[in-house]
Parts: sequence; C-alpha cells; structure tokens
Amino acid sequence: MAFEKLIEHFLKFPGIGPRQAKRFGYFLADADGDFAEELARLILEVKKNVVQCPSCFCFHNARPGAPATASACGICANLNRDNSLLMVVEKDVDLENIEKSGVYDGRYFVLGGVLSLVNGLKKQNSLRFKELFSKVQENSPEEVILATSATVEGENTARYAEKILEPLLGTGNGLKKISRLGRGLSTGTELEYIDGETMSDALESRK
Ligand SMILES: [Zn+2]
Repeated sequence: MAFEKLIEHFLKFPGIGPRQAKRFGYFLADADGDFAEELARLILEVKKNVVQCPSCFCFHNARPGAPATASACGICANLNRDNSLLMVVEKDVDLENIEKSGVYDGRYFVLGGVLSLVNGLKKQNSLRFKELFSKVQENSPEEVILATSATVEGENTARYAEKILEPLLGTGNGLKKISRLGRGLSTGTELEYIDGETMSDALESRK
C-alpha cells in the first residue's frame, strides 16, 4: 500500500510520468535506510525553511532568525537592484538561471507557469496575473520585460500578460515600456536551459 501511495505522490511531480514514478519507487525500495531517512528529513526541512517571497513569489531559504513566514527574498531585499526594470519569468528555475548569468540587475516576478493551450482557462487562474498587475501598479517600474520561453505556451503567456499590463502604460504610473526578450532565443528554447551569453544577447536585443 505504502509503495503504491508513494508512486501516486511521485506522479504529482512536474514532468514525471507513471514509468518514472515507478522507477523512483523501486529505487527507494532498494536504497539503504540512511538514504531514505536523509531524504525524508530534507523534505521536511525544505517545507520548514523554504518560504515564498511575498513580493516576487520566488521560493528561497528563510534568513536565519527571520520568521519562517512570508519574508522577502535576497533579491527583493537588495537595495542596489535596479527598480526601473521588472522581469517576469515563468518559474523559479528561470530566475535562478538568469541570476547565474549575471547579466541582469533589475527586479523579478515569478508568474508560476505558462498558459496551457489545452486547458487555458484552468491554468490561467493559477497563474499570478492579478498579482503581477498589482505589483506593477505599486512598484511603478519603467519597463516590464516579459521573459517567457520561446515556446508556443511561452508566447501565449507573454501576450496575455501584455494585454493585462497595457492599461498601465503611460498612465503616469511610470510604466513606459513592455518588452519581450529578443529572439536570439531559437524557437522552442526554454529559459531554464539557456546559457549566459544567449541570455545576454536576448536581453540586449529586447524590443
Ligand atoms: Zn523576492
């Protein structure tokens, strides 16, 4: 029973199908006790110490001593970042990858995924478009960069975000420009996999 339940849990992981879920299950059944115990401990620790930033919605390690409830991430708390730029990304790994490239020093917003074509409506509700609108309204960046992947879903998501933010353009709110990453990104490229140089080009050639 526990084995089947475990498989069901793995199936909820992003990108994991039934066959992979089973492989994980058998792997754990075969692994030594220390491994399983360490894994269980780490999962609980992550749940306790990793918090979501109330400003950009990224997940990050709570700073020592800070309450393990909604506390700002290191990027949002950094006063030296450029407030005039707000980059909208699909997910945490994209943010992480762009940060690693070191070519961007503005602010971020994590949308929480992409609009899917099949069940567009359902997915749309779980994305943070409303929060994005409020954030742009409150923080008044000069430019919002829609940094979605160069996939059909990514393009749709960017178009939808643009439509939502358009009313804020030139309203004295401060927002002057809504841009998209330049297509130095080849079609089908997901942001989480691009290297620093490509990111730098895509950012430079944004329009
Ligand atoms: Zn943040």
